[in-house]
Amino acid sequence: MCMDNRKHLHIPDNFAYIIRSGGANMRYSEFRVSYAIAVGGVKAIALIGHNNCGMVNLMSRKELFVKGLIENAGWTREEAEDHFYHYEPIHEIGNEIGFVSSEAKRIRLRYPKILVAPMLYNVNDSRLYLVNEAD
Ligand SMILES: [Zn+2]
Repeated sequence: MCMDNRKHLHIPDNFAYIIRSGGANMRYSEFRVSYAIAVGGVKAIALIGHNNCGMVNLMSRKELFVKGLIENAGWTREEAEDHFYHYEPIHEIGNEIGFVSSEAKRIRLRYPKILVAPMLYNVNDSRLYLVNEAD
């Protein structure tokens, strides 16, 4: 699931492993996914993106990001800009629904015995939707 602070899932103890990452992007959480499958016995993955995700159009928030690191973390402008330009391309998801669909396909190829369901949480109506991959 995305790391966004607008939603916290209410999940019973011992029910699921929860991996949160910007945009529900699991490309850089693969070891944790493998651990949940290999050690935790996970058989299915609900990949949950959401609308209005901050990982869409990151470039539009570059100045906010840089200023935030300068003011909140004590970074220099150069450090903050270098950091943004280095990581923006690998964290930009483009489109929430398109990304969660392609990420589900990628995870299925990597873990062929695991069921992967791409889903979208709507922050406006607080409901969870199954993404129609035929679109
Ligand atoms: Zn998000």
